[in-house]
Amino acid sequence: MIATEPVPGEARSSAQIQYPVVVPSKVQSRHLERVAAVYIRQSTLQQVQEHRESTALQYALRSKAIAWGWSGDRVLVIDEDLGCSGASAEGRSGFQRLLAEVSLGHVGLVLGIEMSRLARSCRDWHQLLELCALFDTLLGDADGLYDPRNYNDRLLLGLKGTLSEAELHVLRQRMNEGRLNKARRGELFNHPPMGYVRLPGGELALDPDQQVQSVIRLIFEKFQQLGTLNALLRYLVKNEIGLPVRPFGGARRGQLQWHRPNRQTLRNLLHHPIYAGAYTWGRRPVDPRRKIPGRPSTGRKVAAAEQCQVLIKDRCPAYITWEQYEANRTRLAQNRNLASARGAPREGPSLLGGLLVCGRCGQRMNVQYRGKCNDLRYACTRNHCSYAAPLCQGICGRVLDELIGRLLMKVLEPASVELSLAAVADLQQEQQRLDRHWRQRLERAHYQSDRAARQYHATEPENRLVARELEKQWEQMLLDQRAVEEAYARFRREQPVELSPADHAAVTALSNKIPALWHSPSTTSSERQQIVRHLIEEVTLTAPPQQEIADVSIRWAGGFTSHHQLIRPVARYEQLRDYDRLSQRITELRQSKHTSAQIAALLNAEGWRPPKRRATFNAGMVRSIFYRRNRATARPVAYTLKPGEYWFGDLAHTLQLPHPTLYSWMRRGWINARRLDVGQGRWITWADEQELDRLRRLRSCPKGWHNQPQAADLTRPKPWPNDLSKV
Ligand SMILES: [Zn+2]
Repeated sequence: MIATEPVPGEARSSAQIQYPVVVPSKVQSRHLERVAAVYIRQSTLQQVQEHRESTALQYALRSKAIAWGWSGDRVLVIDEDLGCSGASAEGRSGFQRLLAEVSLGHVGLVLGIEMSRLARSCRDWHQLLELCALFDTLLGDADGLYDPRNYNDRLLLGLKGTLSEAELHVLRQRMNEGRLNKARRGELFNHPPMGYVRLPGGELALDPDQQVQSVIRLIFEKFQQLGTLNALLRYLVKNEIGLPVRPFGGARRGQLQWHRPNRQTLRNLLHHPIYAGAYTWGRRPVDPRRKIPGRPSTGRKVAAAEQCQVLIKDRCPAYITWEQYEANRTRLAQNRNLASARGAPREGPSLLGGLLVCGRCGQRMNVQYRGKCNDLRYACTRNHCSYAAPLCQGICGRVLDELIGRLLMKVLEPASVELSLAAVADLQQEQQRLDRHWRQRLERAHYQSDRAARQYHATEPENRLVARELEKQWEQMLLDQRAVEEAYARFRREQPVELSPADHAAVTALSNKIPALWHSPSTTSSERQQIVRHLIEEVTLTAPPQQEIADVSIRWAGGFTSHHQLIRPVARYEQLRDYDRLSQRITELRQSKHTSAQIAALLNAEGWRPPKRRATFNAGMVRSIFYRRNRATARPVAYTLKPGEYWFGDLAHTLQLPHPTLYSWMRRGWINARRLDVGQGRWITWADEQELDRLRRLRSCPKGWHNQPQAADLTRPKPWPNDLSKV
């Protein structure tokens, strides 16, 4: 029997291809009971279109199955994968279907023209092989028929699969090597980025349109000046500056369009090494872990210029220098809000946000604004936040910023004349640049309306169908031109290009007086921060708790480090650096029969300063210091203390507790206290070791703890022993 009947429903004729009828002995009735599957695949759509002979040959396999004894309606043709690569089973629905059919035991024979049609990957191939062996399915190609349960056949099939994968590898390598070789010479270009065009020879050149060039240059100059992507974007939006784009495809391919500026495009622009004239290849490699199945363009990441497969500097025309490109990248990296980066300057009034490093643990210190007046404070909280460790150190921000401000003024003084000249030049240059941009826009609008007019006049007036449309376009262009003219007039009115003599004088005067400029209300905090960042790289602070003096080291730009001492406001007398001398002085004055008020006046005159940012001493403060120091001598001796009894002040001292706190405890009934009938009605308290321990634990409790139920045990005092409770 010779199978000559054409396949029903198939346009391709396989009738000419005939196979002699030799039914191989491997085909048994148990195979014939099930269907024969013919798997057909071409790698690309181009192959499907051009290699028709190969496709016809594959369809002809159906006749082979019929010749071996399968009836026509029991031959299953799987051809969903035409145009799919065999590199992987992923995305090949036909191959998946074949596997499913085999594993359901429906298939007696799988036919493919060669093994590479079935799978180019050993993993997919062996999976099919295993399943065929398990379900007793035969495999056939143009050369023969194999039974995967037979050792020799299986060996051969395995070898064929390996060869097929190796073949793919060789094909790919040959192709990639060719491309890479061209890239290594710097001659392989993808789509030109914004601001570039591709010449007929394949090379890239700067966009011939002057306005495009000036916008690209403006973007780089403004980023250098403004320092953040956000500020750059706002500047472009405020001045209505669009981004020049030439589409890669579509009806308007290569024609200049102006797009709304956006952050991602600007970021790409600043990161792209081509603007510094560098040629790169392999800048967007694929990371297989990031790939999403079924979406071929996913998984790409952007490599740094140095990590690209090919990097050739000074290969293309450049807008900026390589040094400027690197500075931009560093700036962008530093602007990121990470523990390791300084972050961008912020709106708050702190000068050192992002620059201050803790001298004790080396972490970057945080900026905090606390209280009703938003008091500035720098604190090292990273270990506290990340590991619940105790707070490391903190300092009042005002004093540190004052110190930095003072030092900066000293550094900047000699530059003032130069600065005033530069400021005027800068302002004028900025105005002129914007004016140039507006004039270019206007020129373009004029050209476009003229062109529309010429097109209109070139048509035959009788051809109303075309003339009507062109007339409409011309009118639109005239309207656009009018809008640009009006916007330009508005710009000229608001921002005159030449500075008036009064403006000139004001700028010069202001920049001559640097301190006035620094403190001027019109100078914003982020501008001050930028000035600090230009001059100072890092500030390290060591402020041990309980001490009035903090060490500050400043690493200036250029590497010089200066060291300074800072006197910071403290909360307690004991934290004052010359507390001993102060209390000694008070004792001396007391012994020479001065009253407390007199002593306070003398101390103020001698330049002593109390803690807690209070400006002067008063009589009460003097008395307090005196009694702290001379507690023993100040006490009247009308009563002898019994074991476990304390004077009120002594208990506060033993517990290292401020008097008002102990007093509030007493009012709440948290300690044992009674008032003496004799000796000015002084308070007397009682506490044994256990009680002292309770009070110490009470002291270490956090704020607001006493609302918690577990605080009840700590606040209940131990009863006063009976024999001591009465005098
Ligand atoms: Zn720290």
